[in-house]
Amino acid sequence: MRSVAVADVNDRVFNFSAGPAALPLSVLREAQEDLLCLPGAGASILEISHRSEVFTQVLEEAERNLRQLLEIPDNYRTLFLQGGALLQFSMVPMNLMLGENRPGSYVLTGTWGRKAVQEAVKVGATTVAWSGEEDGFRRVPVDSELDLAENASYVHMTSNETIQGVQFQAIPDVGEVPLVCDASSDFLSRPMPVDRYGLLYACAQKNAGAAGLAVVLVRDDLLARSSEKLGAMLDYRRQAEAGSRLNTPPVFAIYLFMLITRWLQNEGGLAAVAERNRSKAALLYEVIDFGDFFTGHASVDSRSHMNVTFRLPSEVLEKQFLDSAERRGLCSLKGHRSVGGIRASIYNAMPLEGVEALRRFMMEFEKSQA
Ligand SMILES: *Cc1c(COP(=O)(O)O)cnc(C)c1O
Repeated sequence: MRSVAVADVNDRVFNFSAGPAALPLSVLREAQEDLLCLPGAGASILEISHRSEVFTQVLEEAERNLRQLLEIPDNYRTLFLQGGALLQFSMVPMNLMLGENRPGSYVLTGTWGRKAVQEAVKVGATTVAWSGEEDGFRRVPVDSELDLAENASYVHMTSNETIQGVQFQAIPDVGEVPLVCDASSDFLSRPMPVDRYGLLYACAQKNAGAAGLAVVLVRDDLLARSSEKLGAMLDYRRQAEAGSRLNTPPVFAIYLFMLITRWLQNEGGLAAVAERNRSKAALLYEVIDFGDFFTGHASVDSRSHMNVTFRLPSEVLEKQFLDSAERRGLCSLKGHRSVGGIRASIYNAMPLEGVEALRRFMMEFEKSQA
């Protein structure tokens, strides 16, 4: 006889994972229930045609809710694509670069921006408008520091650098050049003035559901830049014309995304969610700022409301901190291997109680070392 370990909802920990990350419990429960039979479908979302009436309604509601939450202007298209954020690192230059002398200009505030430019150079010319790398990626630039190529095809930025915990609190002014934003780790965490961007994209597994899906918002006029020569799946214009159903889209991820947009509406919309996120982050930064036991990675005006990164006085203490946190059900707090230290990812779905429990633990740990 094989024995099967059965875990239940009480075994769930406070999960500070940077991504894939914690999802709202109510969304998981609904998905669990619907997995046997989706109302009106006689089957689950995984078992019906992506052209069926039921799936069409899911897709349409996902788009409708998203438009309402972010107040997306009518001249923007919303695409639900595959390949996560990384495929966008290639699709952006493939579609938006205007030719040899029209580089993509990249603002590098952390590891993801650097990866984005590494993919873009394979497609065409790029310039680096600013880089915080020498400094260990601790802050975002002010506008006067940006060295934008005059004839740039677009400017690329990362609104929240998930690994370093560095977040823009204001959108850089880049004039008439389309601003492209990787918003993977702060998408739907706060209101975003979409009209300030030419294109904005995010993978779903931080704040918006399941890995594999990328949500792309693109201004209509930029679709004209896509060349006929691009493979259909890589072509924003073709994807927009096909309503994101050029092939079978990631139906389950889109369905989960739809449930999350509903959840966000019930939570009071993005302004309310942003306020809660700000207070959650403040609870942790207060402890970090209090003495000199904890040291934040990012400068105060650039620190993230989503990924709180900090160090302890030694790596030995960091290891003890992580082990002891884990025993209390405060999990996945280890910083990214490239930065070290501690990273608490506190996306929308992390409840206040989780952040309070971490705050208490940090204060106790500091005291125990005095
Ligand atoms: C997680 C993340 C990515 C990578 O997303 P994938 O879906 O794994 O490709 C890219 N950019 C940022 C800012 C991220 O947080």
